[in-house]
Amino acid sequence: MASSSHERRRKVSYFYEPQIAHYFYGPDHPMKPIRIQMAHHLISRYELLPHMEVYRPLSITKEDLCAFHAENYVDFLSTASLETPARVLGQFGMGTGDCPPFPGLFDFCTASAGGSIGGAVKLNNAESDIAINWAGGLHHGKRCSASGFCYVNDIVLAILELLKVYGRVLYVDVDVHHGDGVEEAFYHTDRVMTVSFHQFEERFFPGSGYINQTGVGCGKDYAINVPLAQGINDECFVDLFLSIMSKVMEVYKPEAVVLQSGADSLAGDVLGAFNLTTKGHAECLRFLRSYNIPLLLLGGGGYNIGNVARCWCYETAVALDIEPNGILPDNYFSRFLESNLLHIEPDKKLDDQNKPKDIEKIKVMIMEQLRRLRHAPSVGFHTAAQVFKFPEMGEEDMDQSKCGVRIWNGEPCPDILTDKVHYQDYCLILEDNSSKVLRRGPKNAREAVKHFGKVPGLPKPYVRDAIRT
Ligand SMILES: [Zn+2]
Repeated sequence: MASSSHERRRKVSYFYEPQIAHYFYGPDHPMKPIRIQMAHHLISRYELLPHMEVYRPLSITKEDLCAFHAENYVDFLSTASLETPARVLGQFGMGTGDCPPFPGLFDFCTASAGGSIGGAVKLNNAESDIAINWAGGLHHGKRCSASGFCYVNDIVLAILELLKVYGRVLYVDVDVHHGDGVEEAFYHTDRVMTVSFHQFEERFFPGSGYINQTGVGCGKDYAINVPLAQGINDECFVDLFLSIMSKVMEVYKPEAVVLQSGADSLAGDVLGAFNLTTKGHAECLRFLRSYNIPLLLLGGGGYNIGNVARCWCYETAVALDIEPNGILPDNYFSRFLESNLLHIEPDKKLDDQNKPKDIEKIKVMIMEQLRRLRHAPSVGFHTAAQVFKFPEMGEEDMDQSKCGVRIWNGEPCPDILTDKVHYQDYCLILEDNSSKVLRRGPKNAREAVKHFGKVPGLPKPYVRDAIRT
């Protein structure tokens, strides 16, 4: 019998930092935090915000980051700047092209981690069924170093928070890259099962994620890796995902689920070479959501920023069980996102290099691994770890400058921006770039468009003006 709409409804919390677009990795860097703002605008234009509780990230401290990260690394991050010598940056995996220092780096890290930890807190207190933080999902961050555009591993921190309440946490990663930082953090434990679906080819970052990389000690067989070749399409990916994940859910019986929904596995990504559409990508969320287990939904990679916005907007709607109109809300987005369609199509020119016999072999090997786990591990605790609670929401707490409190109070969201303001956002980024970075920055409109993604509708004179400032 089909479930009623009431049974499908979920209480959703959504974390968003309005300043997120102002952080800038550098003109040639593929990671563009403005994509979070673009996704947010689209979510706002689709009028999804009134269906959720909208929060700014939880205000977190250096001590909170030390729940996972080494103290000397956190101290370093809090002071790293464009002036930090390359030798010092290099000690912590920074200074290379992937992980540059940039103005506001530490605030960027705490915004990302504060949203994910905040989401975990909402789930821990049973105040939400699903918590969303699109600025999270930075899965490559290591205990003592930055890696692959990630400085602080918000996912590990959020899972550690969830483990205060839940005995078993399942981590699922559909980013095109292997979720190495999270896997490594929980490689020795059965309290977290990690499952990563990723592109696995010679010289493809990070180079780990072999199928026989399955955990050690108590964690033996609790790490699952699904290495795939480029070009995988919706049909094959979703079929494989559903067969593996339904068995994982049956065997592991997680009490909470974290989904890293990296959008670089979509067709047309700048770095990844999978061929998923927004609909195929969202099937992973739809499937995990159907179990009605506390779910933390995070972002991750995604370098075709228009498609990232589409994907995360659509998945916000899926979390809410709303089917949005496939035509984007207004022509602002049609100009900005190249077409007026919410969904993307697969790339017809991209060959699927996954042979059916290889996929079958992967399936067989992982089913064997899951069979070795005869039952879900029981957890002989609970020590009374201190569970964080959100502050009571009095009138004075509605001040938007405070972190970790609700920013949407029933009125239309104040963050609905006009076209004009949006272009100013581009200007701001360029101005942020006005210290040393500007000299390496975009020199003309064409360069600016290249650096900030394809923005064919952006008026060229305006871009020139922005650069001049
Ligand atoms: Zn990625």
